[in-house]
Amino acid sequence: MHTKVLLPDESSYAFASDLLKQGKLVAFPTETVYGLGADALNKNAVLSIFEAKGRPADNPLIVHIHDRSQLDELCSIPPLAEPLMDAFWPGPLTMLFIRKPSVPPEVTAGLPTVAIRMPSHPVAAAMLKACGLPVAAPSANRSGRPSPTTAAHVLEDMNDRIPLILDGGACDVGLESTVLDLCHEQPTILRPGGVTKDMLESVLGREVLLAGSILRPLGENEVALSPGMRYKHYAPKGAVTLIDGPEERTVPLLRRLCLEQKQAGKKSCVLCFTEHLESLSDCDPHDIGSASSPDEIAHRLFDTLRRLDEEGMEIVFSEVIPPEGMGLAVMNRLGRAAAFRTIHA
Ligand code: AMP
Ligand code: MG
Repeated sequence: MHTKVLLPDESSYAFASDLLKQGKLVAFPTETVYGLGADALNKNAVLSIFEAKGRPADNPLIVHIHDRSQLDELCSIPPLAEPLMDAFWPGPLTMLFIRKPSVPPEVTAGLPTVAIRMPSHPVAAAMLKACGLPVAAPSANRSGRPSPTTAAHVLEDMNDRIPLILDGGACDVGLESTVLDLCHEQPTILRPGGVTKDMLESVLGREVLLAGSILRPLGENEVALSPGMRYKHYAPKGAVTLIDGPEERTVPLLRRLCLEQKQAGKKSCVLCFTEHLESLSDCDPHDIGSASSPDEIAHRLFDTLRRLDEEGMEIVFSEVIPPEGMGLAVMNRLGRAAAFRTIHA
């Protein structure tokens, strides 16, 4: 199957809408990452998402809508959700609601809850409006690869596997949405993203919990609240190690560890802040953005991880940022890329 990459305009929206109505797949940009969409109410269309991605069937999908009136047929809404929808939709917040029978169990991997989000990206919004369907869409990468943040990333993973990619340029946030569970007693963040714990708490006026496995690997007998947390996502082929500690110790340690690997003949590099590019100039430094801008680091992270594979990196040492605000989302993804392997300087 030839994969077309089209810029968004009236005719490409009409084409995308036709494909979705026929049960075919369309990759489209959102403000978080590119999604791989199918009609959420068409079981066979949904199954073809799992096939194209090589995604395990027990990892549920997020349903994307453009208007709240679409919620009625999909789920029932707990009262806490209303102020959050007012504050953060459209935007990078996914909420779990109780699923109604119209949603095929393939979308939710058999769970009683369905994850729903209203994206703010103009191309996503226009495509959802053009087709009028609720669109189930996980990230448009092959399973196990970093999420795509450009149309070129999607093409790398999905060429000849899907009929259409809508090219809306680079994604703004660059990390997947915040996933919030509102179906249990305490609102709980299952996956951190662009809408932070503080932002949620300030709207709800109460504490929001963080799922235990956000900054550590899942224990052997631990149940994943969000099935996606079970899988080793985002991992580049090379071994990544995080270097934690005060700057005056981390930078020399990054340099020493990386140079040792180079001397041993390993293809190695460091992921470092813009501020440290010069001090690490003999370590093939990859700029992850300014230490003072977690948003910039989020925006570039997946592209950087993809490049490591292209370059055949075997050993990678990375700086870390405080796991606060957007930093928590960054450290969740970077931590998983490193299987949470950390050296304290
Ligand atoms: P992706 O968009 O590829 O990042 O995948 C969607 C994420 O949302 C995965 O981590 C899923 O595990 C999570 N998710 C989707 N639906 C549910 C649900 N009903 N309960 C818990 N997590 C969910
Ligand atoms: Mg994904």
